[in-house]
Amino acid sequence: MPKLENIDAEISEILNKELDRQRQGAEMIASENFVSSAILEVAGSVLTNKYAEGYPNKRYYGGNEFIDQSEQLAIDRAKKLFGAEHANVQPHAGSQANMEAYFALAELGDTILGFSLDHGGHLTHGHSVNFSGKFYNFVHYGVDKEKELIDMDQVRNLARKHKPKIILAGASAYSRSIDFVPFAEIAKEVGAYLMVDMAHIAGLVAAGLHPDPVPYADVVTTTTHKTLRGPRGAMILSRTEDRLRPADKKNLARKIDSAVFPGMQGGPLEHIIAAKAVAFGEALKPEFKTYQAQVIKNCKTLENNFREAGIRMVSDGTDNHLLMIDVSTIGLDGKEAETLLDKVNIFTNKNMIPFDKGTPVRPSGIRLGTAALTTRGLKEPEIELIASIMIKTLKEKKATKESKEKIIELMKQFELYPEL
Ligand SMILES: *Cc1c(COP(=O)(O)O)cnc(C)c1O
Repeated sequence: MPKLENIDAEISEILNKELDRQRQGAEMIASENFVSSAILEVAGSVLTNKYAEGYPNKRYYGGNEFIDQSEQLAIDRAKKLFGAEHANVQPHAGSQANMEAYFALAELGDTILGFSLDHGGHLTHGHSVNFSGKFYNFVHYGVDKEKELIDMDQVRNLARKHKPKIILAGASAYSRSIDFVPFAEIAKEVGAYLMVDMAHIAGLVAAGLHPDPVPYADVVTTTTHKTLRGPRGAMILSRTEDRLRPADKKNLARKIDSAVFPGMQGGPLEHIIAAKAVAFGEALKPEFKTYQAQVIKNCKTLENNFREAGIRMVSDGTDNHLLMIDVSTIGLDGKEAETLLDKVNIFTNKNMIPFDKGTPVRPSGIRLGTAALTTRGLKEPEIELIASIMIKTLKEKKATKESKEKIIELMKQFELYPEL
């Protein structure tokens, strides 16, 4: 086979540089991870050539006898992994999955109660610049000021007052466990659907290390590329029956499927769907549980180091794979902190924190995650070393060459895609 470098030298060089960047950096962006070589192989496979509009055995094109098998495997494994009644594995991304779930459950303009963005929610949970905020009437709950934990009294009061069609739980920057039981009780009381967006925590849920939303929610959306460690993409899990509208001609599973196709999407990305099947297969193995347990241990190690250094953490620590640091307590803003850490090859992202006095461009926090580092094989001693370099860099407000070299040296010991 001709090599990319002989056909497109420019893109080939960019790929090589990006691989080096990934190899040499301590990747702590909480939404990122490294897929296995098997997933990488399938994601770059001949399945990209095939049009397969529709669903297994109900396609609008011929020649899908093999594609049907891989998509069905992805569906079956997803259902098994999460104990779900129905799975749609076609959503191209987490944002599309949410769009499709809203489309299945609500009418344009309906009220949805979701988690506030600056308290840890996601753009697609009703931000004014996003389709969600433009097409639906979002009302937001947040965390309480003292403990910075989701304020369930506020959720209940807002639900009673606004009678939303959907109550939405799930977050992008919340470091504590979410209990879905009270959410389900409130949804039942006010006659709302409960939707959970578990994009960040799906891997922990699959491993049984975070409360499971599937038994309580009508619909669960998730990305597949964060803690779940699959290819970039998403899926929607749901009940089969429509709890609130049992008399409708279409049950909930069919409403979700129609919202995805033909509602929002055309041809599914079958190379990515097959890669999702591989990822779900990996997640069904016992090693996946060991991995997720280490993700949490590593995050606890970070927490302990920041606590010892006297740096304030949002919600006072973590139960999951991520940790929110309030860098304003050391006289920095999130952007400055992100840039300083970038310069020593520690990759993080600036983030709003609850009741932030800053702006989205200059927020007061940074978000740290351990999913990607744990995939590379780092354990507590290495996390301690990274934490000490982070704390030194932030406190001294100085990115030294020496710190950067230490990180590169450390990451060299944990090979990434040696076959490439
Ligand atoms: C990442 C994320 C999404 C969006 O996923 P994309 O694949 O980037 O569109 C949606 N919801 C939550 C809670 C997320 O963290």
